[in-house]
Amino acid sequence: MEKWPIGVFASVDAGLGVHLDVAQELGIPTVQVHSPHQQTRNPAAARAFLDRCKAAGITITCVFGGFDGESYADIPTTIRTVGLVPEATRAARVAEMTEISDFAKQLGCGAVGLHIGFVPADRTSSNYRNLIAATQDLLDHVNGNAQNLHLETGQESADHLLEFIQDVKRDNLFINFDPANMILYGSGEPIAALKKVGHLVRSVHCKDAKWAAPDQRGKSWGSEVALGDGDVGMETYLRTLLELGYTGPLTIEREIAHDRDRQKADIGKAVGLLNSLKKKILG
Ligand code: MG
Repeated sequence: MEKWPIGVFASVDAGLGVHLDVAQELGIPTVQVHSPHQQTRNPAAARAFLDRCKAAGITITCVFGGFDGESYADIPTTIRTVGLVPEATRAARVAEMTEISDFAKQLGCGAVGLHIGFVPADRTSSNYRNLIAATQDLLDHVNGNAQNLHLETGQESADHLLEFIQDVKRDNLFINFDPANMILYGSGEPIAALKKVGHLVRSVHCKDAKWAAPDQRGKSWGSEVALGDGDVGMETYLRTLLELGYTGPLTIEREIAHDRDRQKADIGKAVGLLNSLKKKILG
């Protein structure tokens, strides 16, 4: 595979991703996809989506899980509702994530991704220990499908994410690095974080954001902006990925599903920016 193929976060029928048509129109060769709703998560739907991808010359690189009841409305709501951390829904979501892993296998995809939620800070708490056990169960199922699980970054510091991964003790747990999330959640300077976790990064998002005001970081969102317009520093980001030996897909994410025209225009500009940086950096 070529170094750094461009990608985009897409959806089958749910989630924030763009429709496959957008990837096709923009000539983007890889996609990560948000898993479809439960009722359309079946072998026939997988085959139909895979056929469309194949016809368009598009490779699926990761399938992301998401769950009913999740809300990113603000940071406190995200803490309360997202991922496997909320205890009331944990068992059901682990079960659903195993189904998503099975669906990803039907798509011929060797990686599933997940926002696990805000990992509890106290490593001795029963909540933390139970989350470790649930994640191990999930990883064993994912391993049975010959897949890796990539955790999305942002909800905890790089150091705490590393502690969590070490505590899980499974060799199919990796990271999907999203530099903008570090800024949006106020969880750490993205390039420094990338250097800390780089050895575990198996997929990345190309997304940009501006920090919230200093006294608001970690309390209210920073603002997501078009790629190149934020505080990540795309050239430094790509150069750091190369230093770390990452040459996998550069998956563009633009989370403004309420404005599809602008989303598509911004993704088109992001493709242009990434292609020019690729030429500059890789030669
Ligand atoms: Mg992301």
